[in-house]
Amino acid sequence: MPPQATESEAVVLNCIDHGESDIIVTLFCQNSGRISAIAKGARKSKKRFVNKLELFSFLHVSYQQKTGWGLAFLSEADLHTSFLNIRLQPALYSVASVIREFLLISMKDGEADDKIFSLCLWAFHSLNQNQQPKAILTLFLIQFFDYIGYRPDFEMCNKCNILYSTNHTYHFDASSGGITCSSCNKTSRYHLSHGTIKILQVAQNQPLKKLQRLKISGAILEETLQLLHNYGRQLLQRDIASWKIFQQLTQTDYQQNRR
Ligand SMILES: [Zn+2]
Repeated sequence: MPPQATESEAVVLNCIDHGESDIIVTLFCQNSGRISAIAKGARKSKKRFVNKLELFSFLHVSYQQKTGWGLAFLSEADLHTSFLNIRLQPALYSVASVIREFLLISMKDGEADDKIFSLCLWAFHSLNQNQQPKAILTLFLIQFFDYIGYRPDFEMCNKCNILYSTNHTYHFDASSGGITCSSCNKTSRYHLSHGTIKILQVAQNQPLKKLQRLKISGAILEETLQLLHNYGRQLLQRDIASWKIFQQLTQTDYQQNRR
């Protein structure tokens, strides 16, 4: 009996040409997590896949997967949206690429995660509207770390367990994923601003529907991004390859003025 077709909403995370006419795509599916699928004849077919198998596109897909086979067979794809602004604007593209890289590194094949799927769609929709793109990345990452089980702790000092207070200064310890107060760590000369700690506390607890309302800018935005970047690298034990180009393309007047 041939394998049954599976249908799912999906976001395209990678596309590679294969042979003369096929494309191999990596999809983040709502129902089945990350999968790799081959779209036979996709580069020649004028109808089935044209303009659909592009990075970041949001699709409804139908595919078959044989047990024991790594690659699924993509039979159909309908386009919900191609997030055209993201694809046309280099700065937005660079932010989406960082999100894509975090998803590709962290998600395992076949493990569905509805919360991360919704968060990813929220981020791409928001980016496509070009509303505070760097802040969107901050908000994505702070919730993403939580969903993959590594919620950084900004509520209390991770050494003495005393609750956060504006009467103390803190630094972020990426290896333990929490803040340490100045009484517990007297050697660190670098302190987080209270504005940064507070916005991260709020962003962690904000439901997705209201996430867009949080505005982050200036020094606080730069500090939150630096913190989340360091934490991500520590967590994943590797560099985030797309981060450098993201920084170059999204450099703000604020950063340039500081030089
Ligand atoms: Zn402490």
